Amino acid sequence: TRPNIWKLKPYSSARDEYKGAVASVFLDANENPYNLPHNRYPDPMQWELKMELSKIKKVSPEHIFLGNGSDEAIDLVFRAFCEPGRDNVVAIDPTYGMYQVCADVNDVEYRKVLLDEHFQFSADKLLAAADERTKLIFLCSPNNPTGNDLLRSEIEKVLREFEGLVILDEAYNDFSASPSFLQELDKYPNLVVFQTFSKAWGCAAIRLGMAFASTDIIGILSKIKYPYNVNQLTQKQAIEMLHKYYEIERWVKRLIEERDELAKRFAELPLTVEVFPSDANFFLARVTDAVKIYNYLVGEGIIVRNRNSISLCGNCLRVTVGTRMENDKLMEALEKYK
Ligand code: PMP
Repeated sequence: TRPNIWKLKPYSSARDEYKGAVASVFLDANENPYNLPHNRYPDPMQWELKMELSKIKKVSPEHIFLGNGSDEAIDLVFRAFCEPGRDNVVAIDPTYGMYQVCADVNDVEYRKVLLDEHFQFSADKLLAAADERTKLIFLCSPNNPTGNDLLRSEIEKVLREFEGLVILDEAYNDFSASPSFLQELDKYPNLVVFQTFSKAWGCAAIRLGMAFASTDIIGILSKIKYPYNVNQLTQKQAIEMLHKYYEIERWVKRLIEERDELAKRFAELPLTVEVFPSDANFFLARVTDAVKIYNYLVGEGIIVRNRNSISLCGNCLRVTVGTRMENDKLMEALEKYK
């Protein structure tokens, strides 16, 4: 933890302090009383939402941090645990770009360890890149942009042998056959699992990310977040979504079927060199000329992600699985590409 964070006395909002009392008159937060009642400040600690989430995730609310997307949690772990200009973090490469952006913003050295040709990593190699100033290791499984799950035995080895925190980003875990590491929190006090409402839950617009970790780690993140970091509309909609849990399971099942079908069709195109196996709701494909094909698709009004300039992803496109109609449009365009 940064020394200033140890000493930090957190901001205590008006709504933090009356906890437990039954009140009906709120003259504490300088709000305008004439507007609709739900336009008051939201619950700073999002207790109702955390209680609902706790039932579904089977993790007690004290182990849950909620933020403005997982992107907020990514930034907060740097701000809490890494001293600018002094500490470093280690991450697999390629992976999700925001880890490096947040490292750079916080002036923390970002050390990359290249994945192998199967997009897997070796715990030993990762640990060898760490030293006494390494505070965090970033793992992402299923990994973005490669789409595959990382090997569980290697993740466990890092958790056992690394003394700092292991951030395991499970943004796409709902699409994977591998179980989440959420149930391993008791076993590994250095584990921080990130999940999000943006992918399987279909709620990217409301900006809601989750971090699960020990009560100590959650306590630190909660201490340094903005007081009302998750707005009222978001809390409300997330609770509604949690009540429709069965719906998400159906979406995920359908998306996985669509993914496998789309990947198969994509692999048969003359322009395709290789489609890499995916455990997520997207896949990475190597094509004859990623830049040309990307630009051609833009001209057809279809946007995929050009990953050509990323490590190990030369001539690769990342394709998100859409609706049947969207997937068909993509295939029709690619079939007539010359
Ligand atoms: N982690 C990974 C691996 C992602 O791919 C993304 C979204 N691109 C995020 C986190 C960010 O998710 P959120 O919308 O919750 O900020």
